Amino acid sequence: MRKFTVREEFLALKPYVPGYSIDEIQQKYGLAQVIKMASNENALGVSPLVREAVIRHAASVFRYPQDGSPRLVAALAALHAVPPERVVTGNGSNEIIDLMLRMLVVPGRNSIVCCAPCFSIYTIQGQIAGAEIRRVPLSEDFSFNFDGMLASVDDDTRLVFVTTPDNPSGYCPPRAAVRAFADRLAAKAPDCLLVVDEAYMDFADNEQEASLLAARDLPDNAAFLRTFSKSWGMAGLRLGYCVLPPELASLFCRARMPFSVNLLAEEAGLAALSDSAFREVILQTTREGRDSLARGLVCMGCAVWPSAANFLLFKPQVPAGACFEFLLKKGIIIRPLDSYGLPEHLRVSIGNPQENAAFLAAMRAAVSGTSRS
Ligand SMILES: *Cc1c(COP(=O)(O)O)cnc(C)c1O
Repeated sequence: MRKFTVREEFLALKPYVPGYSIDEIQQKYGLAQVIKMASNENALGVSPLVREAVIRHAASVFRYPQDGSPRLVAALAALHAVPPERVVTGNGSNEIIDLMLRMLVVPGRNSIVCCAPCFSIYTIQGQIAGAEIRRVPLSEDFSFNFDGMLASVDDDTRLVFVTTPDNPSGYCPPRAAVRAFADRLAAKAPDCLLVVDEAYMDFADNEQEASLLAARDLPDNAAFLRTFSKSWGMAGLRLGYCVLPPELASLFCRARMPFSVNLLAEEAGLAALSDSAFREVILQTTREGRDSLARGLVCMGCAVWPSAANFLLFKPQVPAGACFEFLLKKGIIIRPLDSYGLPEHLRVSIGNPQENAAFLAAMRAAVSGTSRS
């Protein structure tokens, strides 16, 4: 067999571990119905306006979209009251993370700093970009060790990643703490970009209070990532965006793949932004579901961490792996966290009220069933 010489970074790569899909579990266990609460997708599905937009524009997909999705950029700039020169869109925020890493990191020379555990795309794409990856453990309660992160930064550090609310814990630091960290980072490493990943920020009870972006307090060394994959209900269409310093935005636009935001994603994004009624319902439903799931899990003796996101981190009194498998057999997919280095914890995405009830019922059985065996 032919042997190819591949960059070492690729040989060492551990792939991203996604949650199981509904099809996979239906087939494996011969189940008619499967509930997925594993990937933090929107609990109420697609907005009717988004669905209409996709159908309405289906006949246009033989055309290339407008490069850089300028209409969507204008709408997002208006949403956040920032100049459009500061907004870029991407094929999911993951694409933006990847390109920012490649834009700022010189392979073999620069480092990035992120937490352990953290969203694995930062470290996987960081590794591909040839960055040295410095990981700072979260505190015991899953809060950020900002001092430790700052201590890990030196003159060659190009990016620092902070996820707020954090995945997988749901932890959300006060916005003043993020601002203070940005300022200390600017003083220590003027050339380093703070990437604040706000993928779940709109689920916070008070977005204004929790988000620098929502409060329109933008440090000049910070980039803010948002996504249409969660609250906007468009994970399958792949659309994300970033509010970042204008000079980086301009370089970003030069370097990115042409047309990476596809025509349907742009139209769907515009439609989603226009559907404020659907949005109110999803945010309300998610917050209520989060409270009732947390209460239910605590009643069963699980440890549950406070979450500002559309998921909960919890630790059952029975082994997490057995609990996860038990739920799978009942047709409920949640997320084991071995790949995050948390084998004793589980993460469940907030579902709709029926899904939440089914999950709690199955958990009750799991907690009593698995502890007996
Ligand atoms: C889900 C998620 C995203 C979204 O990624 P997309 O590529 O926009 O789907 C980004 N950051 C974190 C931490 C996430 O959990």
